[in-house]
Amino acid sequence: MKEIAEVAIGLPIQKTFHYYIPERMQKILQIGMRVLVPFKGRKVTGFALDLLDHPPPGVEEKLRDIEALLDEAPLIDRPMLNFCRWISNYYLYPLGEVIKAGLPPGLHLKSEFYLSPTQTGMDRLSTEALDPIQQKVLTEIQRHHQMTLKSLLKKFSGEISRAQLFSWKKEGLLELEGGIKPTSAKPKFERVLQFKGGISDQTLSKKQLHILKWLEEKGEVPYSELRKQFKSPSKAIRSLENAGWVSVIRKESFRDLSVHPELKPYPKPEPTAHQRSVLEVLSKGIHSQRFSPFLLYGVTGSGKTEIYLRAIETVLAQGREALVLVPEISLTPQLLSRFKDRFGNNLALLHSGLGAGERYDQWRRVWRGEVKIAIGARSAIFAPFKKLGMIIVDEEHDSSYKQEEKLKYHARDLAVVRAKQADAALLLGSATPSLESFHNAKEGRFTLLRLPERIEGKPLPKVEVVDVKKGEGLLSERVREALQRNIQDKKQSLLFLNRRGFANFILCPDCGLTFKCPNCSVTLTHHLRVRSLQCHYCDYRVSAPGDCPRCGSHRLRGVGIGTERLETEIRTLFPDVQVERMDSDTTARKHAHQQILKRLESGQIDILVGTQMIVKGHDFPNVTFVGVVSADTSLHFPDFRSSERTFQLLTQVAGRAGRGETPGEVIIQTLNPDHYSILRAMEHDFVGFYQEEIEFRKALDYPPFTRLINFRLAGNSEKRTQATAEALGRLGDALLKRGYRKGIEILGPSVAPFPKMRGKYRFHMLAKGKNSRWLHQFARDVILQSEDLIKGKGVALEVDVDPAFIL
Ligand code: ADP
Ligand code: ZN
Ligand code: ZN
Repeated sequence: MKEIAEVAIGLPIQKTFHYYIPERMQKILQIGMRVLVPFKGRKVTGFALDLLDHPPPGVEEKLRDIEALLDEAPLIDRPMLNFCRWISNYYLYPLGEVIKAGLPPGLHLKSEFYLSPTQTGMDRLSTEALDPIQQKVLTEIQRHHQMTLKSLLKKFSGEISRAQLFSWKKEGLLELEGGIKPTSAKPKFERVLQFKGGISDQTLSKKQLHILKWLEEKGEVPYSELRKQFKSPSKAIRSLENAGWVSVIRKESFRDLSVHPELKPYPKPEPTAHQRSVLEVLSKGIHSQRFSPFLLYGVTGSGKTEIYLRAIETVLAQGREALVLVPEISLTPQLLSRFKDRFGNNLALLHSGLGAGERYDQWRRVWRGEVKIAIGARSAIFAPFKKLGMIIVDEEHDSSYKQEEKLKYHARDLAVVRAKQADAALLLGSATPSLESFHNAKEGRFTLLRLPERIEGKPLPKVEVVDVKKGEGLLSERVREALQRNIQDKKQSLLFLNRRGFANFILCPDCGLTFKCPNCSVTLTHHLRVRSLQCHYCDYRVSAPGDCPRCGSHRLRGVGIGTERLETEIRTLFPDVQVERMDSDTTARKHAHQQILKRLESGQIDILVGTQMIVKGHDFPNVTFVGVVSADTSLHFPDFRSSERTFQLLTQVAGRAGRGETPGEVIIQTLNPDHYSILRAMEHDFVGFYQEEIEFRKALDYPPFTRLINFRLAGNSEKRTQATAEALGRLGDALLKRGYRKGIEILGPSVAPFPKMRGKYRFHMLAKGKNSRWLHQFARDVILQSEDLIKGKGVALEVDVDPAFIL
């Protein structure tokens, strides 16, 4: 029996601790279970990482006992634990929290008290040395071996109280232990009919014969299905069951996913020559069963999806499993329906749009090896596969792979790590690869695969840039012409504007008043239809004023445009065509997004106005014109990746045009017609953009030439948050003096780009370094030593590791 457990405690450090395993737990405790342990005078949750025969040398006398077991079964297996360890170490986040983040929400376990009789209790029960109510309760518990406090109190409600039970515990009759049970998500069971024997007997009734024939064909059918086919079948079934021809069993069922997008079917095409050569290289990587990373750089419409589908077929043929990450699954119904058409039910869906029960079901299907493919958004990187052969990351440049809250991981970077740990192939795909990934390919760390042209040699759309400095109003003459022409030709158009609402903000021209969010340092956006001013960060809302509340002026006016106003103007401009808008306001209802895309596919929409959402990988052959109303919003974002983001966005939007027979046309309106992001996007020149951007990154020592870790402080009091930030700065400086000087540079502390968000004042400090290991070591020291500095100040420290993964 193992006597010692290595335990991870909920701290963002990798140090682990050892505890004795009390005898009663020795048979039950397994790696991957959570335990309650004493730590610095408190009781904390820990994770059993390893079980040992002997304590590590020199700590024996100090070791204490594990107090309680919190899980009935391990939550994860060893390889997954190693993966989580890596994540915890790299993102400086508590291991227990990492593991939790990787589990479906239904498994976020809730603690409950379990009662069991002690030896004393049992003895006294058998000698009847208890009062009648104790006798009754203990008998009941003993019958179940163990009961939860809740169920016991329910059973004997009115007869016993919680306090009584606790006093019996004191008397030594009962044991009370913290335990765990799944919360909302539970497996669902259903009755299933199975066909057992041949149909020969002539004594069967017509109905029975009918049912039996039907069953023979199906083999196995849920009872509910039978009910739909035959009226009141239970009597017939009972006699069939008695005769041994049918058996009725209870089986776990999986909630049906109501996400089938019902788009056009996707037949399996013969691969083109380009696709074939890409597949050939890929297939070698897959067959090697070693870590083989690939970057697939294929222009928009070059047929990347078919590469994914066929690569997965190769993986399945080897008896291994495939994981596919997509930026946001609810936004890419087309990709999903292509996967469904090819793989049917051998596919699990993992994303946050599903209900807890659905998610739990999907997760379990993967866990038990019932499906070989999973497709999902960033958190699907934790899918519990055991024989992973390949991970695909579609649109690998997409910023939604970065989780911005709590555990701030980047799913693409984690895909690299997981594929490596699993000896699997890795396929990152994009028409606009991230600088990091392309750099990795250039340096030979990834094998670069290319699909240089669109399918069937279709040309990329012609892109024109219109300088709107002179101000022709919302839409330039050129865009209006193009829309008009498309209407005449019965083609469809997309208009992209990366800002929702009616007006950006409301201004009083008489006294200069603008309306600011009380919680965030931003102005409120005007939404006309719902007559409100809204904050797009914290969701604060007030009704829109008619007159200026300060000077009473009647001339309040909206400044800057959003998609709502764009839609209105387009409707006025083209009253006879179908105009729709797709942004988070119009797609709040479930499936609204899919329905809009379906109407676009079937030609019911002539002009679709929208935000980012219209950019994502859609493939609609009748869309021939795409207008970008303003390319400048993303360009001015305070982030060193703003040029890259702009280039990606423009190229992706443009990529929606001209996928059918008619060549596409794109017009970009901008105030910065000479900016290289815009010029290179106009020329479809990713490599040119990369070369310019990488020079800029090199000159300024930005990723991928350095690594960044951001320390963010947020607190309710501006003064205290600032003081804490300054103290953090001094700590950083002191650490530099004590030996970190070489290789690490600190920027700040300073006020964050948005100084106030959701009511919190924000400051940050940036650490920059060339050596990742060294930089992380520094960050770990900062976190450890800042504990006292932050304690009791009402200020939270968060650490954000910049996604710039280098192997
Ligand atoms: P990407 O993801 O690279 O933008 P898609 O995978 O959407 O491109 O493919 C673009 C279009 O080309 C789709 O309509 C798809 O059906 C079609 N396609 C892909 N491969 C082939 C092929 N080998 N032969 C014919 N059509 C293809
Ligand atoms: Zn005013
Ligand atoms: Zn706000």
